[in-house]
Amino acid sequence: MKKRLLQDKFIGSLVGTFVGDALGMAVEGYTIEEIEKKYGQLDYMLEARLGAGTYTDDTEMMIGVAESLISASGFDGADMAEKFVTNCNLDRGYGAGTIEALNNIKAGSSWQEAGENIFDGGSFGNGSAMRIAPVGVFYHTDYEELRIKAKKSSQITHAHPLGKTGAAIQALTVGYAVNQKPEADFSVTDYLDVLTEYIDFESVEYSQALSSIQDFLKNVPEPKVVRNKLGNDARAFNSVPTSIYSCLINTDNFKKAVTYAINLGGDTDTLGAMTGAIAGAYHGYNDIPSDWLDQLENRERGLDYVIELGKKLFCLKHK
Ligand SMILES: [Mg+2]
Repeated sequence: MKKRLLQDKFIGSLVGTFVGDALGMAVEGYTIEEIEKKYGQLDYMLEARLGAGTYTDDTEMMIGVAESLISASGFDGADMAEKFVTNCNLDRGYGAGTIEALNNIKAGSSWQEAGENIFDGGSFGNGSAMRIAPVGVFYHTDYEELRIKAKKSSQITHAHPLGKTGAAIQALTVGYAVNQKPEADFSVTDYLDVLTEYIDFESVEYSQALSSIQDFLKNVPEPKVVRNKLGNDARAFNSVPTSIYSCLINTDNFKKAVTYAINLGGDTDTLGAMTGAIAGAYHGYNDIPSDWLDQLENRERGLDYVIELGKKLFCLKHK
């Protein structure tokens, strides 16, 4: 693959997280029915909590993951934990479990221990999958290492096995998407083979989701059926498979995949962020609609900064 395209994919996955997060934020917690009634098909930036085009904890933590991979030249748990603590702006809307883990780190817990006892056995929310794009793109040449690093990065805040598996599945999907030529059809069969080769599907939550995805690919149902069966809430085993499915049935362009995901309702900023991470890794930055990009916040740690992180991550990996 040409280096220019590969760099575009690195940037696309990071900015894809950002744009999906910003689009979804405005309707977080809405149902499919409420979004439909109020906006029809929502495919534009709405005024939201922190202003139109702003990002939430999803993107802020994704920035921390990228910064840490760059400064440590790869995964370093202590460094990443420190980046999360330094960057955390609670106005961006952090989950209770993540706040607790970050407080534990501030109080001296190691990155391995900080998330261990949250919610009795660790969190299995989607908070480690939503930020995983930089791990997925950086380790795209080695799926085994990718899976290990994704799980370790999850451990910092989401230590439950279901949380770690969600992060690994999302990261592997991003890495796989980086390796596919955007003009060729994304081979769903090949993707599912790779996924089942590298991920342990013994947990019933993910194996059921995987079999629902396979059924839906054969017989595409109404979005409400997808919502009911796969789920759209903040648990990793609900929203990670839903984001993946949103990409698999909308492989033609970035806009279609992200629009589909945010219109499912529920945890829409994270569904948007995770779908955007995969679709951005597949299509590249150039396929992200410019009217969406134009509206993203671009102060000191906004769009230009995220593009720069994507370039640096690419240079570290491939130059
Ligand atoms: Mg969020």
